[in-house]
Amino acid sequence: MQASIVGPAAGAPTAAPAPLGRGVVDSIGNTPLFRLPHLAVPAGVQLLVKAEWYNPGGSVKDRAAKYIIEDALRRGLLGNGRTLIDSTSGNTGIGYAMVGAALGIPVALVMPENVSSERIQRARAYGATIMFSDPLEGSDGAIRMVRQLAADRPDAYWYANQYNNAANVRAHMETTGPEIMAQTEGRVTHFVAGLGTSGTLVGVGRYLKRVKPSSRIVAVEPADELQVIEGLKHMASAIVPGIYDPSVHNEQIAVEAEDAWQMTRWLARSEGLFVGFSSGAAVHAAVQVARSLREGVIVALLPDSGDKYLSTRLFE
Ligand code: PMP
Repeated sequence: MQASIVGPAAGAPTAAPAPLGRGVVDSIGNTPLFRLPHLAVPAGVQLLVKAEWYNPGGSVKDRAAKYIIEDALRRGLLGNGRTLIDSTSGNTGIGYAMVGAALGIPVALVMPENVSSERIQRARAYGATIMFSDPLEGSDGAIRMVRQLAADRPDAYWYANQYNNAANVRAHMETTGPEIMAQTEGRVTHFVAGLGTSGTLVGVGRYLKRVKPSSRIVAVEPADELQVIEGLKHMASAIVPGIYDPSVHNEQIAVEAEDAWQMTRWLARSEGLFVGFSSGAAVHAAVQVARSLREGVIVALLPDSGDKYLSTRLFE
């Protein structure tokens, strides 16, 4: 069913030596699902959170990075000396940089200049090259810049294009979705996740609807284009990702940045879960869903930990 976290069982003889450097790549996925025992929800409702910061690069985006790179290697688009290039608000970049380091693929990233310094430093630690786009243009400015760079030097760069790459969605159809189904023993009724590239929501949503058509899928986004919740897009005012499929979700919940921050702080102090602000947004939305139900099993996806937001000083 699911790949084991450590690869072959301890002590088991391996048929052939694993390719050099794959170790960390094989530890992506199979993240825990937690209860929130201190959160008040109706008696018949269970609210569970998928702890994606347990991935080795620290976020849900390790899954997409792994799928995108492995797909490109299979198709001969990488592994020929070309550099993977993409725009990212940080987490996908860290995933690319980590997987690229492990598999010997050079990585270049375009990030808006205002992304938190922890993300930039972490990607650099893995050896990635970072270029900065105009902070005022947000993630869309980074998309425009990477398109230009890739068009100017097609011999040097392979544009991974996470916003339009089907492997991003497939990562969640083949790993995150099945994990949630297995971990809830098929009891999941609602899935709640934020929209960035939309890979997580579309991939998990499609899988759940296929295996359990009654599943309700809830998309979370910032209340308007001025509300910044790192990692999330306000679709109505953004460059809409090619992989986005609005027919997957049944409901959309708009979250104010202030409410996301409050919930993020509450999760650290009351549940001992030190998560990022898009996680706070997902739980804030999941609570609204929970309080509208009499029974159900809600899974909210928490993309990353609070580590990369310490420099924002929002936890003080
Ligand atoms: N939260 C954070 C912190 C992220 O970095 C991202 C990715 N941009 C998301 C949520 C959204 O994930 P996805 O790209 O799969 O929609």
